[in-house]
Amino acid sequence: MVKKLGIVGFGAAAIGFLEGLIESKKIQDYEIFVFEKGKDHAHNTISGVRMDGKIFISRSMGGELDVPLDVQYRVVELYLTHSGYRPTRDRTDPIEYLKSFEKNGKKIEFGESFADEETYRKFYDNGFEPIKAYFFHLGTDVLRETNNNLFQRFSSFKNVHFLFDTTVEDVELGSKHRIITSKGEFEFDELVIAVGRSGHRLMDRLKAKYPQLVKENYYVDIGVRYELPNHVMEDLFDMYEVKVRYKTRTGYVCRLFCQNPAGKVTLEKYEDFTTVNGYSDTYHKTQNTNFAVLVTTRFTEPFKDPTGYGKNLAKLANILAGDKEKVILQTYGDFKEYRRTKRLGRVHPTLDENSFILGDANLVFPSKIRESLVDFIENLDRVIKGVAYFDNLLYAVEVKFYSNKFCNDVVEHLHVIGDCSGWTRSIQYATSMGYMRALKL
Ligand SMILES: Cc1cc2nc3c(=O)[nH]c(=O)nc-3n(C[C@H](O)[C@H](O)[C@H](O)COP(=O)(O)OP(=O)(O)OC[C@H]3O[C@@H](n4cnc5c(N)ncnc54)[C@H](O)[C@@H]3O)c2cc1C
Repeated sequence: MVKKLGIVGFGAAAIGFLEGLIESKKIQDYEIFVFEKGKDHAHNTISGVRMDGKIFISRSMGGELDVPLDVQYRVVELYLTHSGYRPTRDRTDPIEYLKSFEKNGKKIEFGESFADEETYRKFYDNGFEPIKAYFFHLGTDVLRETNNNLFQRFSSFKNVHFLFDTTVEDVELGSKHRIITSKGEFEFDELVIAVGRSGHRLMDRLKAKYPQLVKENYYVDIGVRYELPNHVMEDLFDMYEVKVRYKTRTGYVCRLFCQNPAGKVTLEKYEDFTTVNGYSDTYHKTQNTNFAVLVTTRFTEPFKDPTGYGKNLAKLANILAGDKEKVILQTYGDFKEYRRTKRLGRVHPTLDENSFILGDANLVFPSKIRESLVDFIENLDRVIKGVAYFDNLLYAVEVKFYSNKFCNDVVEHLHVIGDCSGWTRSIQYATSMGYMRALKL
């Protein structure tokens, strides 16, 4: 008998899951329904599979999951192939094979962080922990094609049905798992929940109803999106992304990540607040590079709401900006000197001018976070001259929420995968988690 399988959310983890079902040939065993709140496959919530699309290979970032390198290679290949890139070498060396992908004579944008020993040492000697990884960048402009091709691939199976514009509001676990959606109720033999970070409402509901499924999380990363002219970072562009951690003088660890060379700053809109993020295109380059500078905060009992803490700081920035869809922009020099920014200098913001106000992010951050940010930037300037120029830009607030960790072995036939599971924080790890879970089905 054909079983019914429901997938909630159509992002990176769901893509990995569907691909895993196809490769294991188990896809034929199910009638599959995918529920996505976005109005179609191209308009789902903002995420790395719609914006930027930097897919890395690394075992030391992006999630707390053991993902074998073979699976990571497979994931990169999946996205490159569905973006119209084709290999120009054989598979003998997996990285050389993936690097060789081309489209219309243009090679895939690639970088390897800290391959150069001298650069590695320069960061290391200044107290930074350099993180090694390979990066493959698709770009926001190319991702439209990627999503379209992946959607065509999955929907070509007659037993796979997509229900867009359908928000899953609640889940009831039982001998059959039931979901309550904006368009009615459905029952499944197998249920996959893959709602990413934007599905936090549904995950909060699940956590409240089934606390036995969840391990508490006490972490949240809070900071800014930083923007400066390309030439400051140019010498490091062959890495694609500089990923480093640094223990600041407050004792808090601060990290630089999600770098977008020649990219743009963008808003990340949630239902009731707005934060910042960044991306870059393959074909439309800008004069500026942006990256996240985030402080990792870890709280202890009795505190139990790190998401609420991050959310409220983001809301505070929105309140000061006078609109729940606006953020604060300040020059680094003014931030450091506790002055509200009234005038910008040589760096022109890439974020649309209707999305920010010039303000003072010192009114948002608790002093320990603020001190950590300044200490990080000052020390980074010792390695990358120009990072601490007075007129570089910072946008507040950027937040990375760590979801509560879901235990996937407590309830039968339930699979919580991707960022909403608390085990992943990247396209690579979310897709891999979905893929590996499907192979185990
Ligand atoms: C602007 C931005 C840029 C990023 N860039 C990168 C990058 O370059 N590289 C990288 O590795 N990571 C990046 N990330 C992080 C990356 O997007 C995520 O780690 C990854 O997409 C997680 O995959 P997922 O499937 O768990 O969630 P998602 O890819 O977010 O997919 C979840 C899907 O579920 C849907 N959904 C949510 N709630 C419901 C509901 N209640 N009912 C129905 N559907 C629902 C959403 O619309 C969404 O389509 C970026 C994130 C953002 C926001």
